[in-house]
Amino acid sequence: MAAILIVEDEPAIQELISYRLQQAEHETFCAKDAEQAIKIVNDVLPDLVLLDWMLPGMSGIELAKTLRRVPRTKNIPIIMLTARVEESDKVSGLEVGADDYITKPFSPRELIARIKAVLRRRSPEVADDVVEINGLKLDPVTHRVTVNDNEIILGPTEFRLLYFLMTHPERVHSRPQLLDGVWGDHIFVEDRTVDVHIRRLRKILEPVGKDGLVQTVRGSGYRLSVGRA
Ligand code: CA
Repeated sequence: MAAILIVEDEPAIQELISYRLQQAEHETFCAKDAEQAIKIVNDVLPDLVLLDWMLPGMSGIELAKTLRRVPRTKNIPIIMLTARVEESDKVSGLEVGADDYITKPFSPRELIARIKAVLRRRSPEVADDVVEINGLKLDPVTHRVTVNDNEIILGPTEFRLLYFLMTHPERVHSRPQLLDGVWGDHIFVEDRTVDVHIRRLRKILEPVGKDGLVQTVRGSGYRLSVGRA
């Protein structure tokens, strides 16, 4: 389940998309122009933006450029919606940083499949797939974490932390990046909170021999890796 912002000036299309996405268990926010979209993005950082190319005022392309310029929004996946079919338009859409491109009319089923593909690629933590690393298995739907089919019990924060690390493995995450990814947007917690929860997570993983997966990278942050630190 993802929070999806739909930027579309035609009410009928906006409503239809929103309805179908909600049926697919997504949370939706709607904007009829770029201005409204920016307001929503500032309030609720969405997991993905569906962006109509032709909008009154600032165009979808301009809005995509704006989102890509700002550090807070530059990584939000964007799918452009458009009635245009020319190849050159597709290229300029992708050049401003759109992740995918759908030409109207499209079927809701296709749209949902594309959204899932983009999320899986860009934000695996909202795609709801079971992740497994080195015998450690996490199911985001049932919230079950197992090692060789033995369930281990995690607190909610440790669960989200582990989920984030497992869906972004082998990368070093700074404390602020972990706060952003795990604690969420607009929540101000101290950096050392991260250390506390990392310690708890390791403690839970220790009896099953998996604490070595969560590694400290001196001076940088933490990483989940199957290789030794
Ligand atoms: Ca339009």
